[in-house]
Amino acid sequence: MQEKLNQNLISVIEKIEKARIATDRHRIVRLVAVSKYSTEEEIAALYACGQRAFGENKVQDLKTKSKILESLPLEWHFIGSLQSNKINALLSLNPFMFQSLHSLELAEQLQKRLQSENKSLRTLLQVNSAKETSKSGFMPEVAYEAYLEILESCPNIELVGLMSIGAHTQDRAVVQKSFETTHKIFEKLQNKGANTLSMGMSDDFELAISCGSNCVRLGSVLFK
Ligand SMILES: *Cc1c(COP(=O)(O)O)cnc(C)c1O
Repeated sequence: MQEKLNQNLISVIEKIEKARIATDRHRIVRLVAVSKYSTEEEIAALYACGQRAFGENKVQDLKTKSKILESLPLEWHFIGSLQSNKINALLSLNPFMFQSLHSLELAEQLQKRLQSENKSLRTLLQVNSAKETSKSGFMPEVAYEAYLEILESCPNIELVGLMSIGAHTQDRAVVQKSFETTHKIFEKLQNKGANTLSMGMSDDFELAISCGSNCVRLGSVLFK
């Protein structure tokens, strides 16, 4: 298993590097290994290959896996849709980053909880750039204003950028358009402290990097 994961990781890093260098030699691209379909053993094996950042999309899974692996210095990203009744559970796990803040209502509830616990949480605003009803996140027209509003009214939410899932289609032009939409909003926010643009999954990460992503979230290509 270790050998296979190592080969997957090397091949993925080569592809990320190729896409990165073709677009922007000075950008650093973070790789978050999405472990939602993987076991603790697989995560530990990928860690042994040098991977540090992992992502989960369910609070319960993040809890179980991070507890079992707590002796390893892993960097956990929560990338799923957070229900308000799971806020406390997520905060108690002290994740490195919450990538998927999808509404003002959730921001308000999160702020309350963070404030009462005297904590802050590194967070990305999720943009539904392809405007798909199956996805959560802010519509692109309102994402910029919402970002500013949260910056102002939620001091314990440390907003550091945007996250988006590419359009769900085989049409590359449409996927590219969805990434470009998010990138445009990100550019406007760079003077407001936004430094992370999380876009790109197994099927579209090279395209996402060419559209400005500096954080890719990869599951199946790493753990296949
Ligand atoms: C599952 C998931 C990923 C990884 O998907 P793959 O196609 O397996 O790379 C990335 N981001 C989010 C939000 C996910 O839920």
